[in-house]
Amino acid sequence: MGNIESLPVRSDLVGLKPYGAPHLDVPVQLNVNENAYPIPDVVVESMRSAVDGHFAGLNRYPDREFEELRAHLVTYLNGVNDRAGAPVDLSPEMIWAANGSNEVLSHIVQAFGGPGRTVLGFTPSYSMHPLIATGTGAEWRTSERNEDFTLDADAVAEEVARVDPDIVFLCTPNNPTGTSIGLDVIEAAYDTCSGIVIVDEAYAEFSRPAKPSAMTLLDGRPRLVVSRTMSKAFACAGLRLGYAIAAPELIDVLRLVRLPYHLSEITQVLACTALEHADVLLDNVDRLIDSRDLISAHLSEVGFTVYLSDSNFVLFGNISSPQDLWQELLDRGILIRDIGIAHHARVNAGTEAETAAFLTAIDEILAARPELLLSSS
Ligand SMILES: *Cc1c(COP(=O)(O)O)cnc(C)c1O
Repeated sequence: MGNIESLPVRSDLVGLKPYGAPHLDVPVQLNVNENAYPIPDVVVESMRSAVDGHFAGLNRYPDREFEELRAHLVTYLNGVNDRAGAPVDLSPEMIWAANGSNEVLSHIVQAFGGPGRTVLGFTPSYSMHPLIATGTGAEWRTSERNEDFTLDADAVAEEVARVDPDIVFLCTPNNPTGTSIGLDVIEAAYDTCSGIVIVDEAYAEFSRPAKPSAMTLLDGRPRLVVSRTMSKAFACAGLRLGYAIAAPELIDVLRLVRLPYHLSEITQVLACTALEHADVLLDNVDRLIDSRDLISAHLSEVGFTVYLSDSNFVLFGNISSPQDLWQELLDRGILIRDIGIAHHARVNAGTEAETAAFLTAIDEILAARPELLLSSS
C-alpha cells in the first residue's frame, strides 16, 4: 500500500494488510478454493429465465427480509441434514443471509464484537477472521493448533476459559488445513464461554463421510451460530451469497447492523434458483472429492506430508521452499497458494484435467529439483 500516514486513518488500521491472493491469469487456477466446475447449463438457463421477470421491478427496493430465500435455505438445510442422518428442524427465523459469508461474519462480529471486546481464533485458520474482528475495533487473540493442525476439546476449553473471549471462531473443515473438528470441541468451547461461538462451515458439503453439522447443536444453545456459503460446494462464488443459522433471537440482533436492503433482488432470485437446483450443483462435489483424494494420495506417495482434508483443497508440507515450488508450478501455468505456513502450501481440487496437469507438473518438478522435498525419508 502507498503512504497512508498522510491520511487521517484510524490508528488501529495502520500497518494492516488487505486480504487477497495474487490474482494471476493462468490456465490452471488452484489457489482460492473456488469450485473448479462452471455452473451446469440447465442451471444457467433457469437462472436466465428467473431473473427475466425482475428487471422492470428494479425501481423498487428488494425484500429486506429475503423471505423467499430464507424458505429455500430452510428446505435445503433440513433436507441435507436429514440425508446425513443428523436431522435438524430449522425455521426461517433461524436463517440470516448476506453478500458472502464474509459479510455474514462481519454482521455477527459488528453486533457482538467491537471496541473493548475480544475475539479468539485457533490458528492457522481463515485469514479473514482476524481482519473482520479488528475491523470492528475488537481485539484479536489467537491460540495455536496442535502440530498436525487438529484441535481437541480439552485444549480448546482451557484456552477459552483462559482468554474469556466475547466471540470464539471455530472453522471446520478448517481453511487452510482442511482438517475437521468433532462436535465435542464445539460443545467444549460453548460450555466454557460466555460469549458467541461462531462455527464457520464454509466447506461442510465436502466432508466425507458426511459429518454432522454444528447445526445439530443449536437446540438449547442460543449463543451458537453456524455460517455457510454458496461460494464453494454450490459453485456460486461470483454470486456472493453466504448465510448463518442460529436461534431466532441472535438472528434478530443482526438486523441492527446490516445496511438496509443489503441483498439485491437479483442476488435473491439467483440464489433461490441455485437452491432449487441443489442436486445438480452439488453433483460435482463428488468429482472434486475424488480429485482431492487423488491429490492427497499422490503428494503423500512422492514424499510430501499431507493432512487429512474434508474440504476441496489439500494442505501439504515437507517443502523446503514453498516459494520456489509455487514459482515452478506457475512457470507451468499452474497457480497454487503459499499460505505463509513454513514449509507448506495449499492446492485446490481441480477438474479431472486440472488435477492431472498439477500432478504431472509435481512429478516433473521433483525429478528436476528433488531438493524441494525438505527431508527425503
Ligand atoms: C471461502 C471461505 C468463506 C466464504 O466466503 P464467501 O464470502 O462466502 O465467499 C468463509 N469462510 C471460510 C473459512 C472460507 O474459506
